[in-house]
Order: sequence, then structure tokens, then C-alpha cells
Amino acid sequence: KNEIKLDPWGRPDIKDYSRLYDLFGIRPFNEVIDRMKKDNIELSPFIKRGIIFGHRDFDSKILKAIENKEKVAAMTGFMPSGRFHFGHMMTGLELIYFQKLGFKIFVGLADAEAYAVRHLPRKDLIRIGIEEYVANLIALGLDPKETEFYFQTNRKGSYHSLIQLFSSKITFNELEAIYGDITPGKIVSALTQAADILHPQLPEYGEYKHVVVPVGADQDPHLRLTRDLADRFKGDLDLEPPASIYHRLIRGLDGGKMSSSKPDVTIFLTDPIDQAKKKFMSSLTGGRNTAEEQRRLGGEPEKCPVYDLYLYHLVPDDVELTDIYKRCKSGSMLCGECKLFGSARLEKFLTEHQKKLEKAKDIAWSIVEIPKI
Ligand code: SF4
Repeated sequence: KNEIKLDPWGRPDIKDYSRLYDLFGIRPFNEVIDRMKKDNIELSPFIKRGIIFGHRDFDSKILKAIENKEKVAAMTGFMPSGRFHFGHMMTGLELIYFQKLGFKIFVGLADAEAYAVRHLPRKDLIRIGIEEYVANLIALGLDPKETEFYFQTNRKGSYHSLIQLFSSKITFNELEAIYGDITPGKIVSALTQAADILHPQLPEYGEYKHVVVPVGADQDPHLRLTRDLADRFKGDLDLEPPASIYHRLIRGLDGGKMSSSKPDVTIFLTDPIDQAKKKFMSSLTGGRNTAEEQRRLGGEPEKCPVYDLYLYHLVPDDVELTDIYKRCKSGSMLCGECKLFGSARLEKFLTEHQKKLEKAKDIAWSIVEIPKI
């Protein structure tokens, strides 16, 4: 398992996602698509485009619950330590997709974790949580009336009991085996994440027994821990292991992982438009060294962060995307022309999004309870 190390607090560079099937037991998402079609569940673009590549128990827990007309929920967490970028947007759109299918949505703002791992002042974490995460999610289309947003340090009720109880049935060695280097702060963060994922099952929070967690592949260690804990507390607390789905991480403009800590190669949804366009125009591409070579050999969209942005977000139309892919591959379109097209798309998207954002910020401050300390 040392071949790929999944660190939820690091920046893994995963070259071959299919290795995660063998190494960690994640199942290929393809295997559930036919059943979704049979159940008349609309496929999201991320499923159709292969961005969601894996799952755990999505069929045996979530699809089964839908078929039995039982209530279902989706839950995910965001660590409010940096600005909201196109990578976060991916998870946000997954939540919106599930909300439209009728799922109850829980969004945890991992302020305890951000404090332990990134050491930012509390008041900054709270503001970032509200103005970057909640506001952007609402502006993207998540319905605040049907979503429970909460800060970890402020969740009322038996949620906190879970964290204390969980600590009694896990050993230090097990945590070390899952996470590698571990500190007291990370241990509490990991157990808090498990409480985030499992607490919707408690009667106090609505008794949602069938919960799916959409995450990037790097977050799988949290899911493995949570599933083990759920099994260990099946008898005492009647907890069920959650289902999960995994997406490929969108690349930053330098070809590495997109990250708030690399602002030059990450496009944030609150970037001034000119700045965002400038970053986009300087992006690495899958182009060749010279125009002549590119016309002869064609570009390599698979290696291109610009193409990633089209695939994930900026070109929702499949016919248009296929056309871009073909023109890139055949060498009939060069990167300069392609980037000008993308830059205009980016401008249009950000302009429309940022118009919605101011109102969304007001809503965000009014609906989320702010921690007192
Ligand atoms: Fe990327 Fe576009 Fe260049 Fe192809 S033509 S490598 S998609 S920037």
C-alpha cells in the first residue's frame, strides 16, 4: 500500500486511479451505472464523464434504499482553511445533484480540524467557512432550506458523545496504520470526521440510516476509519457503515493538485475576473513544444489542466466537449486558440457566479449558527 499513500491532509499525486481498486478495495463506479439506469436515476455529468470513478456500497446501501423508497442523505465536510476553488466546486455540484434527487444534505464545516491542522485564528476560520464555503455552495445552487450546515465545534447534542465513545474502540496503532504520522489534533479530527459522517443516523438528527459521502479520492482514509467504527458500534449504537463515492481530483494549472495553498495555479470562485483569466492563460497545457509539432502530432488533452477545466466545469455540453477533444488530438486547434475560448467561458461563468455571491453571503451569515468561542 506504500505505492500510493492517501493522506487527507496532504496533497497526493495519484497517477493511476484504477490502482485504488486493488490497493484499498474501492469498487469501480461503472458497475452500478446499469442499475441506476434501471432505477430511472438521472446520471450526473460527473458520472457520465468518468470523473466519479469509484464507490463503496453505493449499490447495496443507497440504490437499495432508493428502490425501497427509504429516506437517503448525502453528507460531506469542508475544511474552512482556504478559499473555495474549482476543486471544492466539484464536491458542491455533487451535493446539488443528490439534493435534486431528493436526498437530505448535511454539510459539516470542519473548523475543529482546520484549527488543529492549519492553526489559523478562530475568527478567520469562521469567516472563511461562511463567506467562502457556505456562500459559494448556495450561489452554485444548493438550496439552504434543504441543507443542514454546521460548524463542528458548534454542533449541538449527541454528536459530541459519538467522538468520545469512538475513542474507546480504536487503538493508536490502527490510527497510525490508516493515517501514517498522527498527532493528538489529527486523532481528534479523525474521530470528529467519523461523527460528522455517522451522526445523521441518530434519531436526534433525523435517523438517516442510508448516507452517501461524496469525496475526493484522497479522503478515503476517513471513510475506512468511519466504516470500521460503525461496525464496532453496530450493537451499542445501531450504526451502519456509510456508502461513499470518489472523484478524480481536478488538477491545478501546473498539473499538480489544485490547492488553496497554491494560489497562482488554482482558480478561486471569488478571484477578480482579470486575475482568474491571467492565471488561466498562463496554465500548463498538453500542447507540444512547437506549433509545427502540435499540428503534426496533435495535443494531449489527457495531460492538460485546461482540458480538465472544460471536462469538469466549463463545457457542460458533451458534443462541444467531444469537438474540442478531437480538434486538440488532431492538431487542428493550437493551445493559444483553445485558451482564448476557455478564458471567455471562464469569464462568463465567474461573472454570473459572483453576481449571485453577494446575496448568498447574506443568506449564509443568517442561517449558520456561529460558534461562541
Ligand atoms: Fe489543452 Fe486545448 Fe492545448 Fe489541447 S489545445 S492541449 S485542450 S490547451
